[in-house]
Amino acid sequence: MRVAAKLILASAISVALTGAAWSQTPAAKPAATTQAAPAAAPAAAAAPAAAAPAAAAAQPSAAFPPPPQQAPQPARAACNNPNALGVARTVEIDTTGGPGFGFEHFKELDFLKDKEVVLTFDDGPWPRNTPAVLKALADQCTTGIFFSIGKHATYEPEILKQVYAAGHTVGTHTWSHANLNDKKLSEAQRKEEIEKGISAVKWALGGISPAAFFRFPALQHPPEMVTYLGNRNVAIFSCDIDSFDFKASKPEKVIDTVMKRLETKGKGIILMHDFQKHTAEALPELLNRLKAGGYKVVAMRAKAPVASLPEYDQELMKDVKLPTVSTRPVNSVVTTVSE
Ligand SMILES: [Zn+2]
Repeated sequence: MRVAAKLILASAISVALTGAAWSQTPAAKPAATTQAAPAAAPAAAAAPAAAAPAAAAAQPSAAFPPPPQQAPQPARAACNNPNALGVARTVEIDTTGGPGFGFEHFKELDFLKDKEVVLTFDDGPWPRNTPAVLKALADQCTTGIFFSIGKHATYEPEILKQVYAAGHTVGTHTWSHANLNDKKLSEAQRKEEIEKGISAVKWALGGISPAAFFRFPALQHPPEMVTYLGNRNVAIFSCDIDSFDFKASKPEKVIDTVMKRLETKGKGIILMHDFQKHTAEALPELLNRLKAGGYKVVAMRAKAPVASLPEYDQELMKDVKLPTVSTRPVNSVVTTVSE
């Protein structure tokens, strides 16, 4: 099943994850893009974000919608494990202007104290592996940020709902994991990758908007899209410690890589993949090792969610032929009345 499931996966992922993550190889064939530029998207000149107010004033129609008002996310379950790794502190991020995190690319915001880590998981939701990651986190009463791929969110909306319900932060990671530095992509296609990813995650969460947190596939940061996300008030996440779990031959390798890098750097945002089997298998022991090593987990929350753009919500419905009438969960539609 696992092999078959992996074959179903968009070629995007296998190219991006089994090849060099930093390669310039196009990660995905982007979905067909309409020629018309999205009405709500501002002209993304490669200008600093500071120029945005003037541009917005000149083109009132270019303004993005404000963050939606929605019910607070459910809190994490009470912790029954007195020896758990836990959560040492929770920080709230004002994403105005698109701040960047993770010293591999963004060095302005040094907010972690020595021995503090942030756990991040990319490319889910995915059967078996994402639930295994959720269980490992729950067993240790700790948390992370999940950067979901839009397509995967549409495949496995119930799993993504579990991520959110467990109190973890849900950010986005494009629609199809395309490398946005791929010169073959037009600007409209790059924006579509970002925006349809947001729309898809919102759809999968039953209309709940994700955190205004984004990670570029393969940590490829085209400057004009960094500016675009800045205008969109979405924070950008690189990392400090790359687990290279997509290349690991066995779970122990994931643990060794993370712990060795942590010993050198002392703290940081750790990049992992809930999509990867070895990461799911490694996580219980990795969390034990973090606890034993005196590391403390910091939860990162966005001050506000990101509003999806209506034209991409519509595009999503059209492309993936998602139901537009009922998004009720299966247990509210199908009830076992005798067994
Ligand atoms: Zn990824």
